[in-house]
Amino acid sequence: MKYDRALLISIDSLSRKYQYLFEDYFTIKYIKYQSTNTWTLPSHVAMLSGVMLPRLYYVMNQKDVKQFENFIQYLPTIATLLKRGGFKSRAITGGGFMSKYFGWGYDWESWQEAENTKSEWNGEKILPKKNEFLFLHTYYVHNWFNEKKKLREQLFKAKDNLEKGNKYDVRMLITEGKKAYIKRVKTIAKRLSWIKSISPRTLVILTSDHGELFSGPDSFHHGNFALTDSSIFEVPLLIRENTTNKTIEKNICYDFLLPQLICEKLDIPFESIPKMLIRRNRYIINQENLKEKMKMIFDSSIFNISNTVSQAAFYMLNIRGLKTTIRKIFFKI
Ligand SMILES: [Zn+2]
Repeated sequence: MKYDRALLISIDSLSRKYQYLFEDYFTIKYIKYQSTNTWTLPSHVAMLSGVMLPRLYYVMNQKDVKQFENFIQYLPTIATLLKRGGFKSRAITGGGFMSKYFGWGYDWESWQEAENTKSEWNGEKILPKKNEFLFLHTYYVHNWFNEKKKLREQLFKAKDNLEKGNKYDVRMLITEGKKAYIKRVKTIAKRLSWIKSISPRTLVILTSDHGELFSGPDSFHHGNFALTDSSIFEVPLLIRENTTNKTIEKNICYDFLLPQLICEKLDIPFESIPKMLIRRNRYIINQENLKEKMKMIFDSSIFNISNTVSQAAFYMLNIRGLKTTIRKIFFKI
């Protein structure tokens, strides 16, 4: 085995524009890597489970969010795949949408999450142990508004006014917010310089779940409202390999291909998660609530191909025919 440990870092809301600040620590950079969602939860499902469910994750209010409470725990992640190769998986996350509340962690050896911003992992050196896959996630960049108390107050005031439908000039907030964001990106890039001295037995990957917009008079966010701006999907993908010191540029790759990519690098057999779910269907159909959750997958647009990204996903995950199979299993038609 080429590697006996692996580290995956997800810096929430980090645009590819700033990939250059981290490149020095890695040997491979992707110049066209893309996430497939605009907000934290679905992007990480794609990243960690290789499943993209855009419509399912289209969320406009708190009520919509509720449907995910018990969903993710029925979806195996890369931790399940790596177990087959003798790897234990450990996660340290910023909480929020990456907390156990949303079902994360059930197939992980350990899933720790920050209770507040002070207890969050923000770039400090933490290494995976032997035969361990370590996933580190932080909202440090995402929460740029925490840079200054005044900025945070301004943001909440703006949100409050906009939600009430009041006219509110956010130009100043956008300018100041962007400055704070870039400052935080630079800080975490510096903090991560320890990656350069990591043992060559460790595979290291750095990425993000979506970018952050600071463009236009009313755009200082990500999420569903950012769907029309393609730059929101442009995020970094950097890999530290032990085979070369030279930086290799690679072209296109999508977040839902990451579990496969990691398994291949670690010489661990890969099976696509949708296929795995089908293989386990006997178990699934015997349980009413699981059947209900699978119905959610069926209802999502993974089966309603509307763009080239999902076409590629469909093809590459080799799950053609899954729609028919699910219909047969759950709807008996
Ligand atoms: Zn996010």
